[in-house]
Amino acid sequence: MVINRRLTLQRKIILEYLQNVKTHPTAEEVFNNVKIKIPKITLATIYRNLQILAKEKQAERLEVNGQFHFDGDLDPHIHFICKNCQIIKDLFYDDLVHYFEKKMETSGFSIKNFKIQCEGICKNCTQEA
Ligand SMILES: [Zn+2]
Ligand SMILES: [Zn+2]
Repeated sequence: MVINRRLTLQRKIILEYLQNVKTHPTAEEVFNNVKIKIPKITLATIYRNLQILAKEKQAERLEVNGQFHFDGDLDPHIHFICKNCQIIKDLFYDDLVHYFEKKMETSGFSIKNFKIQCEGICKNCTQEA
């Protein structure tokens, strides 16, 4: 069971990395950072572990322009994607989340996974224009 334990440790390091960044990294970005800690890790292993983390709901997988990004922050929040610089910003509009949950509840639905994605132009890009 040595292999399993090692995989679990790798997954733990990957998850810790995801929880410590706000950048919503792609698998390649996770790979570039995690290999500092685990030099022998391969991109395929990163991919596999990220899929498991997403499947086990320990991380969120989001698709932006056909690319997968990963998020270790599981608090319900909204993602704002800038169409210009592609940055993914977290918006913690708790009142909006609660409003949404209440609305859904009264309609007889219960939310298990909150996912809202908006696209637009971010503050930085608006100033540059
Ligand atoms: Zn932008
Ligand atoms: Zn996020």
